Amino acid sequence: MEHNGRSLLAVMQRSGRGFCHTLVLALVFALAPSARATIRYEVSLRQPRQHLFHVRMEIPGVKPGEDVAMPAWNALYQIRDFASHLSDVEVARLSSGDAAAHFTVARELDKQDWSLETNDPNSAGTQQDEAVTYSVEWNEAGPFSTQLDEHHAFINLAEILMYVPDRRGESVEVDFDDVPSGWRVVAELPPGAQADSFTATSYDALVDAPVEAGKFDQFGFDNGGAHFRVVVDAREWDKALLDEALHRITGYELKLMGGPPFPEYTFIFHIGPYSDAGGGGMEHMNSTAIAATSTSSAAAVAAHEFFHAWNVKRIRPRSLEPADFSKEQYTRALWFAEGVTSTYAAYTLVRTGLWTREQFYSDLAAQISELQSRPAREWQSAEESSLDAWFEKYDDYNRPSRSISYYNKGQILGVMLDLAIRDATDNRKSLDDVMRRMNQEYAKGGRYYDDSRGVLDVVNEVAGKDFNDLFSRFVSGTGEIPYDQFLSIAGLQLNLSTSPSGDVTAMIREAPHPTSRQRRIRDGILHGTTE
Ligand SMILES: [Zn+2]
Repeated sequence: MEHNGRSLLAVMQRSGRGFCHTLVLALVFALAPSARATIRYEVSLRQPRQHLFHVRMEIPGVKPGEDVAMPAWNALYQIRDFASHLSDVEVARLSSGDAAAHFTVARELDKQDWSLETNDPNSAGTQQDEAVTYSVEWNEAGPFSTQLDEHHAFINLAEILMYVPDRRGESVEVDFDDVPSGWRVVAELPPGAQADSFTATSYDALVDAPVEAGKFDQFGFDNGGAHFRVVVDAREWDKALLDEALHRITGYELKLMGGPPFPEYTFIFHIGPYSDAGGGGMEHMNSTAIAATSTSSAAAVAAHEFFHAWNVKRIRPRSLEPADFSKEQYTRALWFAEGVTSTYAAYTLVRTGLWTREQFYSDLAAQISELQSRPAREWQSAEESSLDAWFEKYDDYNRPSRSISYYNKGQILGVMLDLAIRDATDNRKSLDDVMRRMNQEYAKGGRYYDDSRGVLDVVNEVAGKDFNDLFSRFVSGTGEIPYDQFLSIAGLQLNLSTSPSGDVTAMIREAPHPTSRQRRIRDGILHGTTE
C-alpha cells in the first residue's frame, strides 16, 4: 500500500516517444465460475443516500453454536473494527423444521463475534441453513475504506462481509442487488451466475478484490502476456498520459519479473474529488485501488502498487500467513514488502523514462532527508518500525522523535543493498536477481519467506557473500547508514546539510570523474542492467 501520499510528490515526465496503443476492449478473459458457492452474500445498494449497505449472508449447514465474525482489520495494518459500522444483526430464516417450535438468534459474544444459537433442544448436532442479515454504513473515500453514495460505491469487501471463522476456505459468491440505474459493477473476480455477481474460491480471495460500482470510464490493453482493465472515476483526467504510463510500468515490471502471474489485472483509479480523504494505493492479488489528485500522481502510485503483485502478494512473508482478521498480525518484513516495493517503483519510473535520472536522484535524496530528520532512527530499527505499523493510526506515533517509516528506510535500504550486491559481484548481479530468485523460490514455489532472514538468505546466495553484518546493522539494528560509502560504489555524491533549526537537506549528484566501474554500476542502477 501507499498511505502517506509521499510518492504522490513524484512528477511524471511526459515523453515525446510514441507508444502504439491497441485498445483491446473486447478481450475479456472468460474465467469459469466455480462450483456452487456454499456461502452466498446478497448486498443491496438500495440506500446510497443513506450510505447503507443491506447484507444478507446465506450459510448452508450451520452447526448450532457456529460463530460468524467481522474482521477487525484489512487493507491497512490497523485495527479499525469494521463491526462498528454494523447494525440490525439478525438471523432471517430457517430452512427446515418447524419454525414455530424453534428459532435461531445471533448472540453477540464480543465486539466482532456472534454465535448462531437455537432454542431447540432437539436440534443439537443437526445442521440448518441460516441467513444472517445486517446493515452496514460506510461513507469514507479512499482505497482503504468503503463508500456508498449517490455518485458511486467503492467497497473493500472485508469491511462489509462477515465470515464463518471455520469456513474461510470454502468457495463463496456475492451478488449486488438494487444497483442504481446506469451503474456498472466491476471487480477482478470470476463472474457469478447472475448479473453483478462474483465468485471466489475462498472468503480470503473474495475480500482481496475491491469492488467499484458507478458510471466510471473504462479502457483496456494487453501487455506482456496479460490483459489489463483500467477503471477510472474522475472528473478530469488525462487518458493518454495514464494509458502510456501504465503501458510502460506494467511492461517493465512484467519483463523484470519474468511474465505475469495472472491472466488479467484491474486498476481502479479515483482521481480528483474522490481522493479528498488523502491519496494512496492498496494492493490486491490481481488488482489495485488508487486515489490521487492528478493523473500523473495516480500513475506514479501505480508503479508501486503493481510491483506488489509480486512483492507481498505472492512473494509473501510467513508472518502474514494465514491472515488472522481478529487481531493484530505482527511482521518484521514490511521494510522489504513495502520499502523495497518503493525502491522498485522509483527504479521502474527512471528505467522507463517516466522520470529523468535527476528526478531519481532527487527522490532518493528526499528519502535520505526524511530518515535523517527523524531522531527516532537512532533507536527504532526498520524491523521495529514494521512491528509498530499498528500504531500508525495514532497521530502522535508519527512524530519524528517517535518513529521512522519502514517505507522510507526500506526504500533507502533497497538501493543500498543493490549497490552492495553490485559491488560484491563486480556488477554481475543485482537486487533484480534477488527479486527474481525470491519469485522463483517462494511465489512460484508456493512457499513463504522467513521475514528478514529469508531475504538475507537469498541475498547471500545471489551475491556469493555473507550480508549478515549489513542486515544486523541496518535492518534489525539502528546503525547510521554510511551513505557516502554506498553511493560512491556508483560514483554518486551526497551533500547532507542540517540547518540550525534541525532541518535536513540532502542532494545527490554524479561525481565529476567516475571510474569506469563506478559508471557501469551507476548505469546498472539507472537502466536495470548488469554485466
Ligand atoms: Zn505498498
